[in-house]
Amino acid sequence: MAKQQLSVDETVAMLDAVADAIIAAEPELSEADRNLGDGDHGLGMKRGMEAVKAKLSEGGFESVDKVFMAMGMAMMSSMGGASGAVFGTLFRNGGKALKGSETFDAAGLAEFLKGGTEGVMTRGGAKPGDKTMVDALEPAQKAAELAVSLPLSEALDTTAQAAEAGRDASKDLIATMGRAKTLGEASIGHPDAGACSVAIIFRTMATFAAGN
Ligand SMILES: [Mg+2]
Repeated sequence: MAKQQLSVDETVAMLDAVADAIIAAEPELSEADRNLGDGDHGLGMKRGMEAVKAKLSEGGFESVDKVFMAMGMAMMSSMGGASGAVFGTLFRNGGKALKGSETFDAAGLAEFLKGGTEGVMTRGGAKPGDKTMVDALEPAQKAAELAVSLPLSEALDTTAQAAEAGRDASKDLIATMGRAKTLGEASIGHPDAGACSVAIIFRTMATFAAGN
């Protein structure tokens, strides 16, 4: 059954599924970063998601904002590097925007992405078109804003589609920030590894909410 909204416990289970999906994708994320950067993105994300799973398994979350924020803090304290800072900020600032909500719904998804994307752009300094995770995140945020009245599973599906399209479009960009900024035109032809992670995160959330 497609979900209209998730409880706190279901939100924990959804984010645990996100962690599993990122851990499983380590080889492809490492490859994506090797194509344009230093190749550490997959292992960094894997280490972060192992810390996230340990934190989520402790339980005791009163509201959904606390779950997302705990995920962000676990990533920040375990990953290190630019990815730890910006992906940790996505979940911590996105969570903060949910302010004590006891359920996660399409309106919450839009709030999460607004707070999270603003946080990432402020912290990392990238804007759309720089060939970073922002190129998947910002289209996802716009899609979520248009989907606030849909059931959560449908809102997440359109958000994930936008993130995937953003990831694919990042192939054609010349990097001006982030892992590939020194490559110039040689960065054309590969998607940004952070944008790949963003697409996996929202597709996994969508699949969870659709009940698959
Ligand atoms: Mg790297």
